[in-house]
Amino acid sequence: MTFDGDFAPALVLNADFRPLSYFPLSLWSWQEAIKAVVSDRVQVLSEYDTVVRSPSQSMRLPSVIALRDYVPTVRRPAFTRFNVFLRDRFCCQYCGRRFPTQDLTFDHVMPRSRGGRTSWENVVTACQSCNLAKADHLPNRPGFRPWRMPEMPTTFELQEIGRSFPPHHLHKSWCDFLYWDTELED
Ligand SMILES: [Zn+2]
Repeated sequence: MTFDGDFAPALVLNADFRPLSYFPLSLWSWQEAIKAVVSDRVQVLSEYDTVVRSPSQSMRLPSVIALRDYVPTVRRPAFTRFNVFLRDRFCCQYCGRRFPTQDLTFDHVMPRSRGGRTSWENVVTACQSCNLAKADHLPNRPGFRPWRMPEMPTTFELQEIGRSFPPHHLHKSWCDFLYWDTELED
């Protein structure tokens, strides 16, 4: 096979059509994806326009594939920026508005300067202007109490929230997912 395109990963779904993993998001290289298609381990749900050719055949690169056999997944969600945003449905927890991933940041409810930890229970999604306005204020100040007090979600909850977004949202933003999918540290 020859292909001189760029990074063209396939999003991998489990047999129930949910992403195999959100933590990090399950992506395979185009080579792995093609191999799985050829050996009939996956079905292709969506394709890129890019075509790969071997001497005997040509094939469009898969962009979304689903495993034919279901793989059980039970894990605690990783504490990443992206998962915090997903838990909060990409909405700033102070003004309540939804923003694209690149305009979001996260805020320590109890400021770090006052001993607040970087944890599921103390970090919320915030837009940049709310984050700036909140600064080191305590959460008991009017306007600085989050919409919902944060807690650790279950993997199932995150998956359900992920499912409530339209497929193209997931599809279009997975480069952001990779960017934001780094483990947060205290
Ligand atoms: Zn805001």
